[in-house]
Amino acid sequence: MSIVNRRKGELNKEMLLGLLSEWTVEVRQLKDMRVKELYKMYLEYFDNLDFSLFSFDRKYIWYSFEDLITYNFRKEMLLSSFERPFVIVRDVLWELLVFKSDLECTCCGNDNFRIMVNEIRTAVFGVCDVCGCSKLLYGKADSIEAQLYPATQNIVETYGFTPSAY
Ligand SMILES: [Zn+2]
Repeated sequence: MSIVNRRKGELNKEMLLGLLSEWTVEVRQLKDMRVKELYKMYLEYFDNLDFSLFSFDRKYIWYSFEDLITYNFRKEMLLSSFERPFVIVRDVLWELLVFKSDLECTCCGNDNFRIMVNEIRTAVFGVCDVCGCSKLLYGKADSIEAQLYPATQNIVETYGFTPSAY
């Protein structure tokens, strides 16, 4: 984790994703029960995602990469608790992989919708980080979707979503 801090000047999104996935693979192999629980809680969701599918072109970027690194990988934050690095990696992966649109959450208005799809990609949802609301935006879906996945750039382009301003 601290390697991110040491190399922050030279990192780009692909390199950071590479470092984070190396870390998650190492952590996944640990036998410690507490680590296993934390892994399941925070990181298991990302196991089946191919990170390379979510490398958005510059015009679709919704986050400040520099802020993301500066804010999340400070030593005191990483060391503040045993759980903290798991939370940080989860948050950073989420921020980097899940497209954030400029559509305001229709439930709380406090944040913009992330764009996600159902497993069989027949439906596009807006999902709010703040209140957890998920709204069907396009397509057909079962009333209860077991799991939603980040939208790829292709989906974002197809539906004409534009990124949230940071
Ligand atoms: Zn909301």
